[in-house]
Amino acid sequence: MAIRRRIVAGNWKMNLDHAGAVALAQAVATGAHSCGDCNLILCPPSIYLEPVAQTLELTNNAGHSGVALGGQNLHDQPKGAFTGEISPTMLVDVGCTFCIVGHSERRTLFGETDSVVNTKAKAVLAAGLTPIICVGETLEERDQGRTAAVVTEQISGSLAGLSAADLAKSIIAYEPVWAIGTGKVATPEQAQEVHALIRKQLAEHADEATANQVVIQYGGSVKPENAGVLAAQPDIDGALVGGASLKAEDFLAIAEQFAHAS
Ligand code: PEP
Repeated sequence: MAIRRRIVAGNWKMNLDHAGAVALAQAVATGAHSCGDCNLILCPPSIYLEPVAQTLELTNNAGHSGVALGGQNLHDQPKGAFTGEISPTMLVDVGCTFCIVGHSERRTLFGETDSVVNTKAKAVLAAGLTPIICVGETLEERDQGRTAAVVTEQISGSLAGLSAADLAKSIIAYEPVWAIGTGKVATPEQAQEVHALIRKQLAEHADEATANQVVIQYGGSVKPENAGVLAAQPDIDGALVGGASLKAEDFLAIAEQFAHAS
């Protein structure tokens, strides 16, 4: 089995204020050394990207804390008359190296289809950023036994036209919608089953060597108490964390467990 990177990302969503965002970034950057080889990404609200970037730069005397910055969303065009939107190049400009695309809240609340997610993923890659491409079924779909079909369709639509090289640079986040912000985490077995399915599909889309390189994160009520059993699964390479990423000690405790799993 390939040794993949471990990557834990914090999706702060529309939370915090300026002071809170800076303080949280500082606390994460200060404690990041405890997370070993597990890479950390912070995805603040876009208006706080720049102060968080500055905080991450300043927190370590060497000039960089080792904690990366990511957007939560973007527009696929580089510039133009798109009021309220943020371009891939703007994300690069403020120091981002990642961007979440197709989060279930974007899909359900803002009508993003697989085709929109695909266009955004391509824009992210074209800008030299790494997309964190989210997929996941609703509770209704799971109860109807449609999890595999739904995730397969989302993966195929979201990754359409991506080359093996694109795929190798991307992260997939499996986030069952019923587990996001609900406190109901998928069991390690439920999550592993879908992660393995996604990896098989990646191998069909590209090739096995590429599929074995792709980091697949789990997201949905990940907490310090459940991160260890998730991290122990062979195809769970990291986490996309919402609520628990708003507390530095919880976020770091999750990342530490991924760092220690092998
Ligand atoms: C998320 O929003 O991506 C998420 C997984 O949220 P939570 O950890 O709060 O369930």
